[in-house]
Amino acid sequence: MSKNQDLFERAQRVIPGGVNSPVRAFRAVGGTPRFIKRGEGAYIIDAEGRRYIDYIGSWGPMILGHGHPAVLEAVTAAAREGFSFGAPTEREIELAEEILKLVPSMEQVRLVSSGTEATMSAIRLARGATGRPKFIKFEGCYHGHTDALLVKAGSGLATFGHPTSAGVTPGAAQDTLVLEYNNVAQLEEAFAQHGAELACVIVEPIAGNMNFVRASLPFMQALRELCSRHGALLIFDEVMTGFRVGLASAQGHYAGLIPGFKPDISVFGKVIGGGMPLAAFGASHEIMKHLAPLGGVYQAGTLSGNPVATACGLATLREIQKPGFFEALSAKTQRLVDGLVGVARDNGVPFSADCQGGMFGFFLMPELPQNYQTVMSTDKERFNRFFHAMLDAGVYLAPALYEAGFVSAAHSEADIAATLAAARTSLK
Ligand code: PMP
Repeated sequence: MSKNQDLFERAQRVIPGGVNSPVRAFRAVGGTPRFIKRGEGAYIIDAEGRRYIDYIGSWGPMILGHGHPAVLEAVTAAAREGFSFGAPTEREIELAEEILKLVPSMEQVRLVSSGTEATMSAIRLARGATGRPKFIKFEGCYHGHTDALLVKAGSGLATFGHPTSAGVTPGAAQDTLVLEYNNVAQLEEAFAQHGAELACVIVEPIAGNMNFVRASLPFMQALRELCSRHGALLIFDEVMTGFRVGLASAQGHYAGLIPGFKPDISVFGKVIGGGMPLAAFGASHEIMKHLAPLGGVYQAGTLSGNPVATACGLATLREIQKPGFFEALSAKTQRLVDGLVGVARDNGVPFSADCQGGMFGFFLMPELPQNYQTVMSTDKERFNRFFHAMLDAGVYLAPALYEAGFVSAAHSEADIAATLAAARTSLK
């Protein structure tokens, strides 16, 4: 038995499904998950010593690649000073200042330890600030695993959601309205029916949990306009897109297309922690003043603003602000995407792909999908065969067709070329 198989069997005896987060189990694509021993720049090395070009990057955080020297140094120095104090530190202020400098829509930010915590708290804050109970989310967007967010659409617009997970009560789902992404008419109708009860709308501005699907411009305009008109808060979940699609994040990208555009509350994670457990949510003073200890919306965390995690995040944010960082990352990601499209065309495989900054997605279909239903209509068997062929060739893509991919600053032109060569063989 191979070492990976051996570890997987051992893991399954002590950990449900052998993993601590479901997608890692390779259930969607079949086969044995690779147990990773270490990372090195653009590569991850498994328990058998096999090296893969890593296009997951811990699902987004590793924008500098693995083991970046400046980050390592910052983390090591911080660890020597202490792991956690449960008291405020100067580094938390520094990280908050750094984030706020880059995200003009926020005046204050609260640090937490996971994206799940951050979106949960953002929704509680929106409900607390507006005094309203209900909110809208979109099918295919993932915002972590709190009860009220593990919800799928009801049978009609007038009906609220149903739990997608056992253990979530209908009560926890009853105030969540789930709509189709990029569907302006549905959004308008929902506001017409429920506008006065809606605390917020939460959206992934570029969705990375149904592969890679952009919010269309009319959809984004409608979101902003309807929220403002009805007094609901627009929450941008930038856990994935934040400091990943560009230094100004997805909100900066949309502000470039819609003058004056900004969300009311923003949520960050992944890159701001550089691979350590760290996330954040922020907004104007006016909204943030509702949070404890100033206001009535409770939120707390033993490890919030953790000194080692904040050191990792700060070092990462400083690197990505260096001149030319995003230009180089974007150009490289674009070359990968264009290359994949070209290889597919040469092989006569229906294919489309898109990217923004260091985030990308590809589809085994001729046109870019606009919503979850279309993404999920992909030929899954074909995707799985492609995934495994690439893995065998040493390219580690997301093991599910509904996940986005990530390129890091550590990926070289040679890595991109090797990936395209692998794709040429695999797509045959
Ligand atoms: N929001 C988005 C957009 C995400 O992609 C994720 C995780 N992939 C989360 C929230 C939840 O973050 P976490 O896994 O850190 O709880």
